[in-house]
Amino acid sequence: MPELPEVESLVVFLREHVVGRVVARVDVPGIHVLKTYDPPPTALAGLEVTGATRHGKFLDLDVSGVHLVTHLARAGWLHWRPQLPPAPPRMGKGPIGMRVHLDDGSGFDLTEAGTKKGLAVYVVRDPTDVPGVAGLGVDPLSDAFTVEVLAGLLAGERGHVKGVLTQQSLIAGLGNAYSDEVLWEVRLSPYKPAGNLTDAEVAELHQAIVTTLSDAVRRSAGLAAGELKAEKKSGLNVHGRTGLPCPRCGDEVREVSFATKSLQYCATCQTGGKPLADRRMSRLLK
Ligand SMILES: [Zn+2]
Repeated sequence: MPELPEVESLVVFLREHVVGRVVARVDVPGIHVLKTYDPPPTALAGLEVTGATRHGKFLDLDVSGVHLVTHLARAGWLHWRPQLPPAPPRMGKGPIGMRVHLDDGSGFDLTEAGTKKGLAVYVVRDPTDVPGVAGLGVDPLSDAFTVEVLAGLLAGERGHVKGVLTQQSLIAGLGNAYSDEVLWEVRLSPYKPAGNLTDAEVAELHQAIVTTLSDAVRRSAGLAAGELKAEKKSGLNVHGRTGLPCPRCGDEVREVSFATKSLQYCATCQTGGKPLADRRMSRLLK
């Protein structure tokens, strides 16, 4: 799933390639991805793209005051097309949810792979009309994200630290992958109760969040949309690396699986050598 750094890179890419162009036409072959109906997507045609920005993991294209807001979810992506075919894509077939044609023949597809229908596109007059945007917490790369703010968020929650880091209404843009990375960086168990962190741990955690995300943004800067996923993968230390050696201590990276996702961690670095219970695994072993 694209998180803050990948969405930020898409924003930079769109500023270079799309801002300043005029939308020629919008096709919506996957009508289920469109979550709004007023204004209709056809309202974008003939308008100039005047800005691109990000709210947490939401991508926001300002088209002369009409906003095309996209949440890529787990399997969604933006595919840049230097030259789009003029014929519209077939309705309801294939991965394309929405196709945006620009005035010079280029454009982009908003797609989703597989059967997980998570891609969500909104055409709104104000980005905060999107419920997920209106409820977002602090952006971890903004000046508002201070050690004190993080301390307050953690202290106010009953859950574990992994849950707090990934809750978009608290911190906007941090997801499953980068929260795994950050927790590994500061050697904290994902299941440590959020309210039990010491001041020193909170300060380290804050530093790790800012550094991990800024580094990822810097690594992916200037990459084309199609290259971002590979770059994200190559920069990760534990996330998605189950069974591989921990880059710091050499222990095997372990995982805890849930219905649709899994978290990764190093037991030696983060949980005092004790593997966390994995319900799926213990069920299989019974
Ligand atoms: Zn380790």
